[in-house]
Formats: sequence, structure tokens, C-alpha cells
Amino acid sequence: MQDLHDITHGELLETLEELGQPKFRAKQIEEWLWEKGASSFDEMTNVPKTLRAALAERYTLGGPEEAAKQLSEDGSRKYLLRLSDGATVECVGMPTGTRLAVCASTQAGCAMGCAFCATGASGLTRSLTASEIYGQVMHVRDDFDERVTSVVLMGQGEPFANYEATVSALRRMNSPEGLGIGARHLTVSTCGLIPQILRFAREPEQFTLAVSLHSAVQRTRNLLMPGVKRYSLLNLYEAMGTYVDITGRRPTYEYALIRGINDTEDELSALVDFCRGTLAHVNIIQLNEVPGSKFHPSSDARAGEFVRALNRAGVEATVRLSRGADIDAACGQLRQRIERKRD
Ligand code: SAH
Ligand code: SF4
Repeated sequence: MQDLHDITHGELLETLEELGQPKFRAKQIEEWLWEKGASSFDEMTNVPKTLRAALAERYTLGGPEEAAKQLSEDGSRKYLLRLSDGATVECVGMPTGTRLAVCASTQAGCAMGCAFCATGASGLTRSLTASEIYGQVMHVRDDFDERVTSVVLMGQGEPFANYEATVSALRRMNSPEGLGIGARHLTVSTCGLIPQILRFAREPEQFTLAVSLHSAVQRTRNLLMPGVKRYSLLNLYEAMGTYVDITGRRPTYEYALIRGINDTEDELSALVDFCRGTLAHVNIIQLNEVPGSKFHPSSDARAGEFVRALNRAGVEATVRLSRGADIDAACGQLRQRIERKRD
């Protein structure tokens, strides 16, 4: 059976017509799906019982199921969610004062194979549907019982290798008939798939873009991010220039410092050259250690030096605080640990 979340508005109207129901029921049902996040047909109290029963005969209403949850001392909560076919994904809720940021996944696993990433190590299971991406955000909202104020697609997976579902989920989050989150507070993080960066630049909404750079030296980047080898740094530089020309918006570069690999003086000067004179903001991140990995984080002092050198060259840069470090917050780690336990 198909999930009711996965049918289009047009298909819902057709079903209602077949069932001899008025059109306005579609709006009521969609409110339950996207705004209220009903997990059973019985919750749809303003929908007649007979219609609820007829829908239940035709469709499922499965949201993700919580397989595990970890609470951090800083208030963040990390979830492992199980989807209808048993695939699992991670998402995180990060509260600060009255704000609640959610980090969600776009794929179960990832095919890009970045050397420092726990998700990359296990390969791709499958891409998520738009409603599975959206469903993670609803899950966090309901668990905190608070409005979600921003979403970053920085969980598992490469959003631009699942472009249509990603953008469709973002639209739903942005819509007043969904979560009503401002487009600027919806961020996609990509490892740098250039055709999709250019396509994203032309979307009408003002979504935010982050690109995982991790090195401005081609050889190093090839080693760290083999999945994007075919897109050279020069092409990325040009594509980002085009992105800024089209959107006028400031993109972010993510740069996780790895001791002895991308934190040397040569790497720093290549990074400064790559960013100088562009609108980009650089996020220096401390690498999250993945158990068994040969990569280790740099010192906080080195992160500070990177930020200052970028600032001196007129480039905006900050060190991003790692949240939930005590709860395996690095991409892919919770899933890895749970699945190891199951073996
Ligand atoms: N696939 C997308 C989005 C998911 S990964 C992308 O790569 O951008 C989200 C971010 O976490 C990326 O910037 C990624 O490079 C980073 N990341 C992955 N593993 C990490 C680790 N061990 N420590 C710190 N950041 C990591
Ligand atoms: Fe995939 Fe992003 Fe991990 Fe690279 S860093 S393997 S693109 S999830």
C-alpha cells in the first residue's frame, strides 16, 4: 500500500472524488499530514469516520519509527529513525533558547565515499522520499513539542544526489501549509555536485547553500573526497561565482580540520586564495573522530589561526562549535554503533 504522504494533491482530489467526497476535505487531510503530523487516521477528528476508514483501506500513514535516541548534556537529541522498509537514518534536534534547529538526512548511507565520514564508509542504501526527509523534522518537532526554526540537511547522504526529493521536502518545510520555516533558514549541504549547484541557484526560493570544501588543494581534496574528483576545484570556484551572481546570497564552505592533512601552511594559503574576494563564509569545523579512522582533529589553537588568517584576507570565517559531541553527533556514527551492536 502507498503512504498517503507520497501521493500528490491531484491524486488526493481524485481519490476523494471516487469516494464521493467534497474537495475541501483535501485541505483538511493535508493539514493533518503536513502541519499537525498525524500518525494515525483516527487523529483526523474533523474528517468523517467513514472517510477515515476508506482512506485507511487504501493508504498507510507511516511516519518514521524511533529506533534509538541519545540525549546530550547540551540539550541536543539525536535520533535513529527506522523507515517503512527497515532502512535507518539519523537526525538531530539542537535547541538554543527559543530556537530549535534540526539536522536531517536525505539518503540512507551515501555513495560519495568521503574518507573521513562514517556515512561514506558504509555506502549507499537508498535515497529517501520527500516525505521521509520531511518526516524526520516532524519527528523532532513532536519530540521537543516546539516549533522548528531552522533545518540543515547535513545528516546522512548527499542531498544533491537526491535532488528532486530534497527540494520538494524543503518546499514543504517552507510552505505556510507545512512547517512555515523561512527559506533562508533551510540549508542544503553538498559535497559539491556542480550541475545541481547551478540548478539550485535558479530555484525561486532563497534557500541557503553550504559546500563541503575540506581542502583547496586538488590532490588533498581528491584523497579526502574521491566522489567529487571529476569536479575540479577550478570548476567549483567558477560554479560558486555563478551561484553568487544569480542569487546574491552568501554561500558557506565547510572545512573540517584534519591534523597533518588539511591544516598545514600550504593548505591554509590555498584556502585563503580560494576564498579571497568571494562572498563565501568559511565554517572551520573540528573533525569528529570516527572510531578506527586514521584521521584526527587539529588543535583548537590551529582552528583559531585558520579563522584569523582568513579574516585578515577579508574572508568571513568562524569556528563552528560541535554540538552533541558526547552523543556520537558525527555524521553516521549513531547508525554505525547501533548496527555494530546488532551484528
Ligand atoms: N553530503 C553532504 C551533507 C551531509 S555531510 C556533504 O557532504 O556536505 C554534512 C557535513 O558533515 C559535511 O560538511 C561533511 O563533510 C561533514 N562531515 C562528515 N564527516 C565528518 C566528521 N567526521 N567530522 C566533521 N565533519 C564531518
Ligand atoms: Fe556523503 Fe557527505 Fe559523508 Fe561525503 S561527507 S560521504 S558526501 S555524507
